[in-house]
Amino acid sequence: MEYRRTAVIKLDVPQDADSPLRETVEQFKHCANTASEWCWHGDDGYHVTSKAKAERALYDQLRDETDLTANLVQKGVRRAVEAVKSGVARLKRGERTSQPYFSAESAVYDKRSATFHRDHVSLSTVNGRVECDYILPDDPNRHPRTYLDDEDYEFRMATLQRRDGEWFLHASMRKVEADDPEPYTEHRTVLGVDIGVNNIAVSSTGTFWSADEFNHWRREYEKRRGSLQQRGTRAAHEAIGGVGRKEYGRFEIYLHGVANELIEEAVEYGCSHIVFEDLTHIRENIPQATWQHVWAFRRLFQYVEYKAAEHGVEAVQVPPNHTSQRCSTCGCTHEDNRDGEHFECLKCGYQNHADYNAAKNIGFRYLRRRQNAADGGAPVDVRLNRGTLNVSGEYVPPATTDGGIERESTRKPYPQRARSSDRAK
Ligand SMILES: [Zn+2]
Repeated sequence: MEYRRTAVIKLDVPQDADSPLRETVEQFKHCANTASEWCWHGDDGYHVTSKAKAERALYDQLRDETDLTANLVQKGVRRAVEAVKSGVARLKRGERTSQPYFSAESAVYDKRSATFHRDHVSLSTVNGRVECDYILPDDPNRHPRTYLDDEDYEFRMATLQRRDGEWFLHASMRKVEADDPEPYTEHRTVLGVDIGVNNIAVSSTGTFWSADEFNHWRREYEKRRGSLQQRGTRAAHEAIGGVGRKEYGRFEIYLHGVANELIEEAVEYGCSHIVFEDLTHIRENIPQATWQHVWAFRRLFQYVEYKAAEHGVEAVQVPPNHTSQRCSTCGCTHEDNRDGEHFECLKCGYQNHADYNAAKNIGFRYLRRRQNAADGGAPVDVRLNRGTLNVSGEYVPPATTDGGIERESTRKPYPQRARSSDRAK
C-alpha cells in the first residue's frame, strides 16, 4: 500500500534568505505567467497543452530572463501548462474561462532543486542555496511532526509559499508498505476509486490521497471569511469575494495533482477504466461533506475524465448502493460492518480501512454491470494492490506471490490518526 500526505511546514527563514526567496518566487511566477500567455494564445490558433512543446519554445528565453535553475524554470512552465490544460477542458465543456494568471507567491521544488531533511530544507534560489529550519510543534503527535518523524515517509516534492510575510513548505510525502507490484497489462482491469472527506480518493490498488491539505485550507478560508463577514463593511464584503477566488485557485492546483496521480496509477496497472461512484447524490451519501467537498469531488472527476482520455483510459461512474457497507471479500452487506474508517465484516471477519474496502466494491460494481451487458470487450477484473478480484468475487493472486491470501487484508489496518474533529462516522 502507498500513503500520500501533505505536510504543511512553517519555515524559519534566516534574515538574509528572505530576499533571495522572494525574488525566486517572483521569477517563478514570471515563468508561469509567460508560459501561460504563450500556451493560451498558442501555436497556429491552438492552445498548447504539451509540456514538452512549451518547454522547447520557452526554455532559452526564460533562462535568459531569470536567474532560476533549469529545474525551476521547467517547473514554472509545467505549472502553467497544467492550468492551461484545465482551462481548455472547461472550454470544451462550454464553460467560460480565461487565460490562467498566477499571482500567488509560490514555487514548486523537487529533489533536484531542494534537499529535504527531517528538520530543515535546502532550497535553490536566484542566489544559490539557502537553508531554512522547520518550525515544529513540541508534541510529536501533532501535524506535521507525525510525518517528518516517521522515516517511512519520504519527500516527493514541495510547494514553497509565502503568506502574510511568512514562509511555508507544502511537502508532498509518500510512504510505501510492502513491495510495489509489477505493472500489469495482460488483460483489462478497472481501478475502483472511493472519495471522501478525510481521504479525497482511495484506489482499489490501496493508495490513499489525503484530504488534509484541502481541509486545512478550507478551514483557514472559512475562518477568514467569518472574520471578514463580522466586520460587515463594503470593503470586507469585496474581500470575501477575493478569498473565494484564491481558494478556488489553490484547490484547483491540489485537485489537478490528485487527478494526475490517479491516472498514473491506472496507467501503471494497465487499467482500462477508472470507476467513481455516482456523484449526483453525493451530498446525501456523504453527510459530513461541505459544499466545498461536493464541488471538489465533481471537479476531481472532471479532471480525471478529461486527462484519462489522453491515455486511452475511460472514467465512469456507478451507483454507490452500499459500497461502504458491503464486504469486498464475501459480499455480506450490513451497516454495522463499518465503523468510521474501520471496516470489519460481521460474517467473514475481513478487516481493512473502510475507504479501501469501498474502492474495491466500486470497481467490482462496474465489472458486474459490464459483465451483465455481455460486452465482449468488458474488463475482467478489479485491480488490487496485489492480484485481482474477478467478476465472481474470487481473488486471483498475481503469479509471483506464494498463495491465495490477499496480502493487504492481513496487514495492520490503516493507521488511525488524531483527527477526531472531522472523522467520518
Ligand atoms: Zn465478509
